[in-house]
Amino acid sequence: MLEIAALSHTYPDGHVAIRGIDLTVPDGQLVSIVGPSGCGKSTLLRCIAGLIRPTGGKVVLNGQPVTGVPEGLAVVFQDYSRSLFPWLTVRDNVALPLRRRGKSKAERREAAMAALESVGLAGAARKYPWQLSGGMQQRVSIARALAYQPSLLLMDEPFGSVDAQTREDLEDLVLQVHRAEKMTILLVTHDIDESVYVGDRVVVLGPSPTGVVADVPVPLPSERDQIETRALPEFIGTRAKVGRLVRGGHGGADVTNAGPATPDPRAADVRAACSDG
Ligand code: ADP
Repeated sequence: MLEIAALSHTYPDGHVAIRGIDLTVPDGQLVSIVGPSGCGKSTLLRCIAGLIRPTGGKVVLNGQPVTGVPEGLAVVFQDYSRSLFPWLTVRDNVALPLRRRGKSKAERREAAMAALESVGLAGAARKYPWQLSGGMQQRVSIARALAYQPSLLLMDEPFGSVDAQTREDLEDLVLQVHRAEKMTILLVTHDIDESVYVGDRVVVLGPSPTGVVADVPVPLPSERDQIETRALPEFIGTRAKVGRLVRGGHGGADVTNAGPATPDPRAADVRAACSDG
């Protein structure tokens, strides 16, 4: 269980990045976090990761206050090109953090190969990161996080730098891993559709200095599909609600200044395909 209470952070230059965040995440939940650019999402993740010490409030993970990088934590950043070591092979990049787990070299390599297998990259184990496409490099970053077998995985805009098709594949990979490993995942994204598609719930943050504006449950089955899930009325309704909240509305069905929910274009494709048949 992750508990965040009255969390605030003011940077040394006096900039107040986050103010009074309260959030509780039960084990095994996948929480999407959305909010406007610059609102403080990365600052929040860095506080949870123990990378910066908040100036107010606290983060408690499994009953222990977070004062440094907690055991059992892995982070995937947006910028895969800077998070992989170019002089190490893909396999050695994935195996490296396992030293912290006290595993032998053979165990580290075995775990790295299993994680690469799970992201479909076993064949690239002996290559170097710069020999891979951007999407493949981000898969390596995800494999590295998985090999570590974290109880908490933080993802900061992890699919921001890849093309649309790869992005969908990586979203499905995260869902598959989440179902298989039952780890707790916090995924920061600026993409409202993505937040609903992958999340068990969506936490909406307000503008800087940020706080929690709303906590929206996602009423979708855990098995999701890029075409069929996005065509469901529950998906379209939740996406409209989150969209209104991000734009400063209150997200309720009775909001009068918001337009009707726009169906996903892929939903139209599905309907057309059905009527053709
Ligand atoms: P987001 O991830 O939502 O884009 P960030 O958490 O990166 O937002 O930043 C929140 C605010 O804090 C921004 O206004 C940013 O300029 C500011 N900020 C981030 N890092 C620092 C820093 N080291 N010193 C001062 N201000 C910072």
